[in-house]
Amino acid sequence: MDSKLLDILVCPICKGPLVYHKAVQELICKADRLAFPIRDDIPVMLESEARTLGEDEVV
Ligand SMILES: [Zn+2]
Repeated sequence: MDSKLLDILVCPICKGPLVYHKAVQELICKADRLAFPIRDDIPVMLESEARTLGEDEVV
């Protein structure tokens, strides 16, 4: 994914920074413990599409 695109992306819920997890193709919001999927290089910044991170998941 384009790193410039990553720079301008923020969490749609808390407007905080996101962490790009390349291996799993997800954008993580640590504050909300949500993982937004990246499909075909396009981040899906929808709360309804986000996955809640489990307690044991390293973020
Ligand atoms: Zn957030």
